[in-house]
Amino acid sequence: MTGKTHSSCGLLVGSLTIEYFNTDLFTSVTIITLAVISSLFPDICHTHSKIGRRFKLISFFIRLLFGHRTFTHSLLFICIITCLLYIIQTPYHYLITMILGLLSHVILDMLTPKGVKLFYPIPISVRFPMTFKTGGLVDISLASALSIGAIYVLFQPYFNQLFTHWLSFMVVQSSIII
Ligand SMILES: [Zn+2]
Repeated sequence: MTGKTHSSCGLLVGSLTIEYFNTDLFTSVTIITLAVISSLFPDICHTHSKIGRRFKLISFFIRLLFGHRTFTHSLLFICIITCLLYIIQTPYHYLITMILGLLSHVILDMLTPKGVKLFYPIPISVRFPMTFKTGGLVDISLASALSIGAIYVLFQPYFNQLFTHWLSFMVVQSSIII
């Protein structure tokens, strides 16, 4: 999947975490930032990816050591990151959003024909029965749908308020006409 699809999913993951923990503005902004970064992070193994371009040297060595979509796209990697975050006593809501961001990346890449080495170091490629080409129509549509979902979750109270106002306006209008 493209970086855009991964970051859109990160945005949705962050929005849902904010909604669940009902956080203040500063925490919410941090959650969204961490969710988007962690949703892109596994592609550090690819020098041309969004995150790989920013950390070219690290990306180059990770690619050299493990190859593309292997260690950084595995359950082992997610477990190591979780343990590290737990050891440095990362607040619970940040920890959850980062794990979900990483997981969302791996799940989305499992929708591509190449799949991921989910059980690395066991060299089995895991993918869903139905797969889609990276950068194809489904990929682009998915990015848009995830972004719309994230915006809806973030602004849900305002949408609900707007809908209630619109509904009461329509009721008043129709009672005037009757
Ligand atoms: Zn990936």
